[in-house]
Amino acid sequence: MYVSVVLFTADLRLHDHPPLRAALDGARQIVPLFVRDRRVDAAGFTVPNRLAFLADCLRDLDAGLRARGGRLVVRSGDVVEEVCRVAAEADADEVHLAADVSAYAHQRERRLRRALEAEGRRLHVHDTVTTAVAPGAVTPASADHFAVFTPYFRQWSGQRLRDVLDAPGAVGVPEGIGSEELPARAAVAGLSPGLAEGGETEGRRRLDAWLRSGVAAYEDRHDDLAGDATSRLSPYLHFGTLSPVEVVRLARRAGGPGGEAFARQIAWRDFHRQVLAARPAAARADYRTKQDRWRSERTAGDDIQAWREGRTGYPVVDAAMRQLRHEGWMHNRARLLAASFLAKTLYVDWRIGARHFLDLLVDGDLANNQMNWQWIAGTGTDTRPNRVLNPVTQGRRHDPDGVYVRRWVPELREVAGAAVHEPWRLPDADRARISGYPDPIVDLADGLARFRQARERG
Ligand code: FAD
Repeated sequence: MYVSVVLFTADLRLHDHPPLRAALDGARQIVPLFVRDRRVDAAGFTVPNRLAFLADCLRDLDAGLRARGGRLVVRSGDVVEEVCRVAAEADADEVHLAADVSAYAHQRERRLRRALEAEGRRLHVHDTVTTAVAPGAVTPASADHFAVFTPYFRQWSGQRLRDVLDAPGAVGVPEGIGSEELPARAAVAGLSPGLAEGGETEGRRRLDAWLRSGVAAYEDRHDDLAGDATSRLSPYLHFGTLSPVEVVRLARRAGGPGGEAFARQIAWRDFHRQVLAARPAAARADYRTKQDRWRSERTAGDDIQAWREGRTGYPVVDAAMRQLRHEGWMHNRARLLAASFLAKTLYVDWRIGARHFLDLLVDGDLANNQMNWQWIAGTGTDTRPNRVLNPVTQGRRHDPDGVYVRRWVPELREVAGAAVHEPWRLPDADRARISGYPDPIVDLADGLARFRQARERG
């Protein structure tokens, strides 16, 4: 009997899943497999928030497979060894896998292909599972990837997306393939208290609700910090419980400027992926170096700690950093402000900030996180690399009534309106009421001068 293994990685869903469809088309039985990869653990990517969300995703995937007569097989160890072991146990002919973009994913694919071929099995790698448009599918005339978003987006928009695939009706899994117990969220310590629930079922529920009542106002409201009017689908896209192809198609069908503006954000996601796929070293090294001599843990330890704890004395930055700790998630505008403050106003190495984000973000994603940090640090793809976001004017613009700040910074709850963005300007009598909230750790003008000087020197 023809048997296929489907190795799930960042594509933990049954709907619109090309590897699963291809495996079921070709084989009588399949082994849906997830490997808890010890190399990913060793690299420090397995942090409590994402581990808990992953546990939800795996349980939901298993439940979906069981409802179709199958089940999920979970193993842990070296991913290549485990896939080969399962393939041998099932006497499988082939393995299906979604393409991914990091250096690690490329190496995994190469190792897997070599090991499987040595045993007479084939590896099939599928595009457009974790992206809407595959990295490399659109390129400029004279380069292997786009370094600027606008021309990328023009070509991306003109691509015809493949059809969306239904979830399978029935899934047959061979007897006797052992599985470890599924991980459970309850067993993970150190979670953010407001962490979202994971899984395809929850992701699809949120997507439906978003298309029905959120996306229409997206263009106008996406930067409204207090309104919290973005989709919050990022963790579901990161773990692949939602398909980017399906999300873009549905957003376009929802129509209007909201649908288009939302689809454009998925294009940003694809954009960063095609950069990282072409330049895997950009996960760690400057994509376009500005010869920065960043401040570090050694030279700016107290500032970095204040930033991590949300105690910089700049309310919108502190609100952002506290939201991150509480929810394992942050609004995009808050990410921009918190990151600009660290990399430019404090002139601290973007890698330190990126690492802290990855330690907490439930959607923490190598391509999106590192490339957005580089964008903000001015070492990435921003065409205005030396712009600096002012946390006071930005706070006033995107949180004009101070509601976002008061939500996350209880010390400032008694301060009304936009005055909350500059607590140091309050009259003495009012300042007494905000005891416990720190004075600014840096003067914005000094921070700006330091950054400009550094860039001119570079
Ligand atoms: P929506 O506004 O509803 O957008 C829909 C989807 O589009 C998002 O879910 C996301 O998949 C994608 N998207 C939106 N904005 C961007 C963007 N700027 N770049 C790439 N994709 C985008 N996003 C992550 O998924 N993981 C990360 O680790 C991550 N780190 C970031 C770090 C910094 C410093 C910055 C500035 C941004 C980062 N982002 C990251 C991008 C963005 O902030 C989040 O994707 C977004 O806030 C998620 O909220 P949402 O799902 O409500 O987004």
